[in-house]
Amino acid sequence: MSVVIETEEHKALREAVAALGRRYGRAYVTRAMEEGKGPEELWSEAGKLGYLGVSLPEEYGGGGGGIQELSLVLEELGAAGCPLLLLVVSPAICGTIIARYGTEEQKREWLPGLADGSRIMSFGITEPDAGSNSHRITTTARRDGDQWVLNGRKVFISGVDISDATLIVGRTEDARTGKLKPALFIVPRDTPGFHRTVLDMELAAAEKQFELVLDDVRLPADALVGDEDAGLLQLFAGLNPERVMTAAFAVGMARYALARAVEYAKERQVWKAPIGAHQAIQHPLAVAHIEVETAKLMMQKAAHLCDAGDDLAAGEAANMAKYAAGEACVKAVDTAVHTLGGNGLTKEFGLASLVNAARVARIAPVSREMILNFVSHQTLGLPKSY
Ligand SMILES: Cc1cc2nc3c(=O)[nH]c(=O)nc-3n(C[C@H](O)[C@H](O)[C@H](O)COP(=O)(O)OP(=O)(O)OC[C@H]3O[C@@H](n4cnc5c(N)ncnc54)[C@H](O)[C@@H]3O)c2cc1C
Repeated sequence: MSVVIETEEHKALREAVAALGRRYGRAYVTRAMEEGKGPEELWSEAGKLGYLGVSLPEEYGGGGGGIQELSLVLEELGAAGCPLLLLVVSPAICGTIIARYGTEEQKREWLPGLADGSRIMSFGITEPDAGSNSHRITTTARRDGDQWVLNGRKVFISGVDISDATLIVGRTEDARTGKLKPALFIVPRDTPGFHRTVLDMELAAAEKQFELVLDDVRLPADALVGDEDAGLLQLFAGLNPERVMTAAFAVGMARYALARAVEYAKERQVWKAPIGAHQAIQHPLAVAHIEVETAKLMMQKAAHLCDAGDDLAAGEAANMAKYAAGEACVKAVDTAVHTLGGNGLTKEFGLASLVNAARVARIAPVSREMILNFVSHQTLGLPKSY
């Protein structure tokens, strides 16, 4: 019996996306960064080809696939050196939440644009005083007649400048108990009172991060996504895909770095044979490759569980995949830089700039310590440590 990890369609999709990635490559991202702009051309072309919408429902302009397909799109673009960070956010988090819990009107309004890339949505949950503890978020939504009024602050929110709207996680007050409960709101970019300041990050990426201030942001009643009483459930629908996609981002970047290092190790010769003939060079590359492939397998399992609708099992697998991919990526990039010796630190070879970028997958959207806490407590049944 043969084991099918990926179908022929998946392989064909990989090849097609890889071909698009090769046409843009690392040079495209480097140029976009120098010009201070986002990856608009690649985003738009990938959208027209149907790659951004592969996971969204067909009836709203998507490809009718799932996170398995979307994660391989991001992985292949990353492996070509030009990952699209907002794939993690726009179709994977926002698209999934709207497709599962949005009103019919919200689906018609947003999904076709998110699918073909003509519209982008960013996602804001992190707050300066809450960080990893999202139970502490204080962005509050209060009703005023048939409107919502939002106040609060967010930090590290990716791509707000190039997004048509941001899906903001806030809280509403329960009229009976006075308790705050999570709720999701679509906030269009130019809404009065919605202020953004770009953060000065040391990251080699075309997408920027922002601090947001919501100062009496007034929204119509239909800005609320889904049900006011089921905010947490809706939120989780988007967080598993986010973790799988972050794993895909990390696996793609790791593959890109390792491929550059292997090419270099085959050609660079300072003794009798190329440096790649020395075990001190080839073994760390082999270890990094094994760890990336292992992480990828966990990512595929998590994506499969997401698409099968098993949210609980997907949650555990997505956390583990994100952890494994983040660690594998940091190690792969470090090994690649070292393989190139001094050239590992030159702008020409472009690998040193990935050292910081690789660490993003260790920190966001949930840090490796919080995943270890989750696995210790939820999977292994050990006492909660925090
Ligand atoms: C490039 C980038 C893009 C991002 N994009 C977005 C976005 O689009 N939208 C969004 O909402 N957010 C975004 N984030 C935010 C990201 O999700 C947060 O940075 C992350 O959740 C960690 O929060 P924090 O930075 O406040 O760290 P903190 O919560 O302050 O944690 C700091 C350190 O303490 C450790 N720690 C905290 N609590 C515990 C504990 N109980 N046990 C052990 N260790 C602990 C953490 O592991 C970490 O190492 C982005 C971040 C980055 C870097």
